[in-house]
Amino acid sequence: MNRRRFCKTTLAASMAALYPFMAGCEKKGTVATQANTSIRGISLGGAEIELEKAAIRELGDAMTGPVMLSGHPDYDGARKIWNGMHDKHPALIARCQNTEDICHAVDFARERNLLLAVRGGGHSWPGKSTCDDGMMLDLADMKNVDIDAAGQSAWCQGGALLGHLDDATLARGLVTTAGVVSHTGVGGFTLGGGFGRLNRKYGLTIDNVLGAEIVTADGTVRQVSADNEPDLFWAIRGGGGNFGVVSKFQFQLHSFDRNVLSGMLVWPIEQAREVLEFYAEWSPTVSRELYVGPVMATMPDGTQIVAMEVVYNGDPTQGEKELAPLRAIGTMMVDDVKVQDYKVTQTKEDAMTAHGIRSYAKNGMVKEFTQDLVDDMIDAFIPDPRAAIFTHTAGGAVKDHGELDTAFPHRNAETMLVFFTGWTDPDQDAEGKAMCKQWHAALENHTGGYYDNIEWEGDASVVGNYGPNYARLSKIKGQYDAGNLFRMNSNIKPT
Ligand SMILES: Cc1cc2nc3c(=O)[nH]c(=O)nc-3n(C[C@H](O)[C@H](O)[C@H](O)COP(=O)(O)OP(=O)(O)OC[C@H]3O[C@@H](n4cnc5c(N)ncnc54)[C@H](O)[C@@H]3O)c2cc1C
Repeated sequence: MNRRRFCKTTLAASMAALYPFMAGCEKKGTVATQANTSIRGISLGGAEIELEKAAIRELGDAMTGPVMLSGHPDYDGARKIWNGMHDKHPALIARCQNTEDICHAVDFARERNLLLAVRGGGHSWPGKSTCDDGMMLDLADMKNVDIDAAGQSAWCQGGALLGHLDDATLARGLVTTAGVVSHTGVGGFTLGGGFGRLNRKYGLTIDNVLGAEIVTADGTVRQVSADNEPDLFWAIRGGGGNFGVVSKFQFQLHSFDRNVLSGMLVWPIEQAREVLEFYAEWSPTVSRELYVGPVMATMPDGTQIVAMEVVYNGDPTQGEKELAPLRAIGTMMVDDVKVQDYKVTQTKEDAMTAHGIRSYAKNGMVKEFTQDLVDDMIDAFIPDPRAAIFTHTAGGAVKDHGELDTAFPHRNAETMLVFFTGWTDPDQDAEGKAMCKQWHAALENHTGGYYDNIEWEGDASVVGNYGPNYARLSKIKGQYDAGNLFRMNSNIKPT
């Protein structure tokens, strides 16, 4: 028996628990030591369970990456996720470094009926990537992106951030649709749909997924694509983390000149009617190259604005022509739309959405940007620097797919209205949440369905929001995760 295999045996694991620094089997940072022989865990159903230290050590020895308990020097950093509202303490954090590690962690959780949270980039608004007393399966070390330039595709590990994906592709003159903040995780972002500034030309991120490697609840590694386990492939394109842990995605890439016409056009809020009324008429006529969407916000100094975010994915001269009618509206405070590196645009919101912010979000899909919507947007405006409405413009290639083609069903929307509140003082939690709900409620009648990835309360209405796709999702869930091990998400119940 080789030394590594020996370390995996129960006998060796028990000995290692007794002698935590046993020469030869100890791996730096595997497990924090405590005097007692078990720690408290929580089951999938919420009951208290005991986790044997020896078994945890066995997991640590089997994995390449560390398993961290409270007291480990990296535990506190690892347990934190983006939204400062969630201060959870998992019983253990399994930081995976490869697919085999994921299998070991999934087996450990399933065999003990242990609550399991999977952390990709940690940006879940409702905090689904962490938990108290369960396992956090942490993919933060799995962030490689391998580019096949000739084949115009990329294999991207499940813990990579959008910035890793953009950096790797842009360096080769290639790109795929990625979201607007570079520290967001590729994992949760892609599994939910993936809206970004290039989606009108290239479709949602899920429309660019060619395949994936996924570890399902039984610990099996599966390669899924249109030809291989097509039902599972369909389900992970919009069904969130319900079906397993994606260790890597394969993305379609597109040739791309990173010098793009992009930036913001900003007007004082007093001109909101003129700007938005024009937008309502003009936006359905623009090309797929043009991504343009409104923002309404209050700056930290109290200045209230209506703005348009612009990215033109094509010849800048043509872009200038197409943008000219919008630029002619009213009197702008700022026009910084110019040819600049796409990476500048893709990172410009990183600082204002930095880790640790306390935040709440809701959204709604809008089929038509009507004059009635404009009226209500103006009436409902909340002049508070902690609140903003922005939009994820859709249409174009997003509509090339039908509502049944992928698990994400909301294909016929022209835009998504996003209601965002953010603050830092915990005493403002109730107010921050209420403000977001109030703004959303005022405009909800213009929306139909929502994008689960930017929604705190998604779990409550998951059945209706998937519309005709829910029954199929539930059946596939039953096939691959009948015990509902992967439940820390907007949960699809297995049938
Ligand atoms: C600042 C900010 C900006 C955003 N911008 C955009 C945007 O431009 N466009 C857009 O579409 N969305 C955007 N979102 C929403 C984003 O898509 C979701 O928050 C998404 O869940 C983030 O993924 P994550 O991996 O970082 O999150 P996590 O919190 O790690 O995970 C979210 C969910 O996905 C699961 N999960 C994560 N990785 C995996 C994996 N590899 N395998 C299986 N399950 C996994 C988790 O278990 C959890 O249920 C933004 C969010 C934030 C906070």
